[in-house]
Amino acid sequence: MKKLLFTTLLAGFMTMDLSLAADQVATVKLENGMSVPQLGCGVWELSEAEAYDSVSMAIKHGYRLIDTAQYYKNEKATYNAVRDSGIDRDEFFITTKLWPRYATEQDIRMAIDTSLENLGGRIDLMLIHWPYSHDELAWKVMEDYVKKGSIRAIGLSNYTGEKLSHILKIATIKPVVNQIELHPYNPRTNDIKENLDNGITVEAWSPLGAGRLHLLVDETIIEIAKKYHKSAAQIILRWDIQKGVITIPRSTKENHLKENIDIFDFSLSKEDMEKIDALAEVKGRALW
Ligand code: NAD
Repeated sequence: MKKLLFTTLLAGFMTMDLSLAADQVATVKLENGMSVPQLGCGVWELSEAEAYDSVSMAIKHGYRLIDTAQYYKNEKATYNAVRDSGIDRDEFFITTKLWPRYATEQDIRMAIDTSLENLGGRIDLMLIHWPYSHDELAWKVMEDYVKKGSIRAIGLSNYTGEKLSHILKIATIKPVVNQIELHPYNPRTNDIKENLDNGITVEAWSPLGAGRLHLLVDETIIEIAKKYHKSAAQIILRWDIQKGVITIPRSTKENHLKENIDIFDFSLSKEDMEKIDALAEVKGRALW
C-alpha cells in the first residue's frame, strides 16, 4: 500500500522507476551477513566507453550489483557510471578481482590500491581472479584491507578442490563468494555443493555461455521459453536464481539488459528445472 501511494505520488519521475526495479531483484545473504542482489551485470571484454554505457543503462533498469576486474581494464569507467547515476553509493555492490600475478606483499598492495583508487575508495567484494602460487599471501593482504575497512568482503574465483580447501585452511576471514563458470551446459552441481558446505555463495560467470555456446538457441530452452512467454536468456537466468546462485550476465544492448533483469515475475516448475538440469549432458564450456 505504502509502495502504491509512493508510486502514485512520484509517477513519471525516473528516480522512482529506478528504485522500484531495483526492489524487485531477489537478494541473497552472504555468510558475513551482507545482503546482495542475486542478479547483476558483468563488464568483461568491454572497452571503457562500452562499460560506462552498459553500466549506466543497467543502473537505469535496476541493476545494483556490478562485476568488474583489474584484468578488464574498465574499473574506473564502471565506477564513473555508478558515481554519475546520482544514486547513493550504499545502494551498490561493486565486485572487482585481483589479477593472479603479484608475488610480493608490496605488489599486491599496489594492485589493490590502484583498484581502490579506480573504484572511488571502496570495494564491496574483492576476489582472487584465479588460483596462483602466491594466493596465500594475497589472501592475507586482502584480509588486512577488510580489517582496515576499505574492502568490505573477500572471496575467490575459479577455485575448486584442493585450491579451495587450502584457502579455507589458512583464512582467518573466510571467502564469502566463489565465482565460477556456470550455465546449463556446465551446471557445476558438485562444486555448488562443495561451496555451500563451506558457507560460500556461488556466483555464475558466463551464465549465457559468453555468446560462444548454443545455449540461447538450445531446443529445450526455447521450448520452455515459449511456455512461459519469456526469452531463452530469461529462462537460463531464472534457472540460476532458482539454483540459489548469483548471476551476472553481460550486455551492451539496452533491450537485453532490460530483458535480463525481468525475471522476478515468474518461476520455473520443478519439472522444467530438471529438463534444464538434464542439458548438463552437453558438457559445453564457454572458455578454456
Ligand atoms: P555472458 O554469459 O553474460 O554472455 C554474454 C553474451 O550474451 C554477449 O554476447 C551478449 O551480447 C549476449 N547476451 C546478453 N544478454 C542477452 C540476451 N538477453 N539475449 C541474447 N543475447 C544476450 O558472458 P560473460 O561476459 O562471459 O559472463 C558474464 C560476466 O561474468 C562477465 O562479463 C564477467 O564480469 C564475469 N566473468 C568472470 C570470469 C572469471 O574468471 N571470474 C570469466 C568470465 C566472465
